[in-house]
Amino acid sequence: NSSGAAAKSEVDGNNKTSDDDDKEDKAAQSLLNKLIRSNLVNTTNQVEVLQRIQTLRFNSVKSFEELRLKPQLLQGVYGMGFNRPSKIQETALPMMLAEPPQNLIAQSQSGTGKTAAFVLAMLSHVDPNNKYPQCLCVSPTYELALQTGKVIEQMGKHYPEVKLVYAIRGNKSGMKLQEQIVIGTPGTMLDWCTKFKFIDPKKIKVFVLDEADVMIATQGHQDQSIRIQRMLPKNCQMLLFSATFEESVWNFAQRIVPDPNIIKLKREEETLDTIKQYYVLCNCKEEKFQALCNIYGAITIAQAMIFCHTRKTAGWLAGELSREGHQVALLSGEMQVEQRAAVIERFRDGKEKVLVTTNVCARGIDVEQVSVVINFDLPVDKDGNPDNETYLHRIGRTGRFGKRGLAINMVDSKMSMNILNRIQEHFNKKIEKLNTDDLDEIE
Ligand code: ADP
Repeated sequence: NSSGAAAKSEVDGNNKTSDDDDKEDKAAQSLLNKLIRSNLVNTTNQVEVLQRIQTLRFNSVKSFEELRLKPQLLQGVYGMGFNRPSKIQETALPMMLAEPPQNLIAQSQSGTGKTAAFVLAMLSHVDPNNKYPQCLCVSPTYELALQTGKVIEQMGKHYPEVKLVYAIRGNKSGMKLQEQIVIGTPGTMLDWCTKFKFIDPKKIKVFVLDEADVMIATQGHQDQSIRIQRMLPKNCQMLLFSATFEESVWNFAQRIVPDPNIIKLKREEETLDTIKQYYVLCNCKEEKFQALCNIYGAITIAQAMIFCHTRKTAGWLAGELSREGHQVALLSGEMQVEQRAAVIERFRDGKEKVLVTTNVCARGIDVEQVSVVINFDLPVDKDGNPDNETYLHRIGRTGRFGKRGLAINMVDSKMSMNILNRIQEHFNKKIEKLNTDDLDEIE
C-alpha cells in the first residue's frame, strides 16, 4: 500500500523528535482500540452539557427516528446494527444536526460513539448534487483517517452519491476534487487547500477535528489544523472530539471551535471492591515462574493476562509457559498495531488461554472475560514509583458491569515489596499473602 507508506513517512522522517514518539504511541494506542472494539463502551454516567446560548435548548433524543435523518442514512445506521443513540449521541446529534449548525467540543472515552456521531453529521450536511468538497475531517495519522473513512463508507452505504477522498501524500495529481467529503492528515489537507488548491476552503460547511488529544502531541499538526480552520467561512460548522481533556487540549479546542457547545461524558469509575488481591513472595524470575505453575496446577483458570515489565521477560515467560503446554499469546512492542489487534482478537475469542504482555502494550486494553490478572512485575512509572493508575485499570472493574476477579502480584525483592506496600496503602485495600505451596485458600 504505497499511499499508506507515503503518509507514514510524515512521522517516520529523519528529523523525528521525542514529540513524534509520544504522538506515535498515542496514535498507535488509539488505532489499537479502534481495531479491537466491536461495540459500544457501557456507561451509566450522565452527559455534562454546557450550552452556548442558554435560551437555545437542544432536547436529547432517545431514538434515531427523532432526528429526521435522510431515509438513506437511517437505513445506513440500522444497517450497522445501531438500535438507539449512545449516551453521547443522544445529546450530540441534535446539536450537530440543528439549523443553524452548532459548533461542538465533545469529550468522552474511546468507544462511546463519537465517530459514528460526526460521520452522521457530515453525511447529513453534504449536498450530493454539488460535486466539490463540503466536509473536511482531519485525523492525526493516515491509519486513523482510514478507520473513520470505513465508518463513512458503512454509514453511507445507501447514499452512494456522496463520495469520499483521502487527503494523503501523493494521492492526487492536479485536479479540483469532485468528492464531497475529504478526510486526511492536517499537513496534506493544508497543502490541498493552499499549495495545490484541490479544495476551495470557502465552500466547506463542516470541519471535523478528530482525536484532538493525539493531534496536539505534534506541534506541527496543531499549527496546520489552525491554519486550515482560519481559511474556512464564518458559518462553517466546527466540531472537535477528544478522548481526554487536559488543559492543553482545551486551549487548542478553543482556538479551533469558536462559540462552542461543550459536552463531556465521564469515564465509568473503576473499583477494586470486587477483586481478591494476593501477592506471592519469590526470589527471582525462575521462582516466579514456578509459583505461576503451582497456581495453574491448583486452580482452574479460564483466561489470564500476565503483565511483565520488559519485552525480554515477556518473551522468556511466554516461551516457558508454552513449554509447559499452555496455549500462550504474546503481545509485544515490536509488533505492528494490526498484529497486536489480531493477537488480542484471538485471545478474546478464546483461541489462547494466556496472554502475556508488556505494560506498555497493554495500556488501555479491556478484555472483559479475563478473570485472573497476574502482575509478573508490578507496574511502575519511569522513575520506579508505583503506577497506581495502571494497577487499577488492569485489575479494577467498573462497578456495575464488573464480575468478580482475582489478581496475583509477584514480588521478588525488597524494592518490589515496597512498591506493593505503597499500592496497598494508596487504595487502602489489603493485598493478602499467598503461599503457593498451599493454595486451598484462593478457590
Ligand atoms: P468513538 O469514536 O467514541 O471511539 P465509535 O463511534 O467508534 O466511538 O463507536 C464505538 C463502537 O460502537 C463502534 O464499533 C461503533 O460501530 C459502535 N456504535 C457507535 N454508535 C452506536 C450505537 N448508537 N449503537 C450501537 N453501536 C454503536
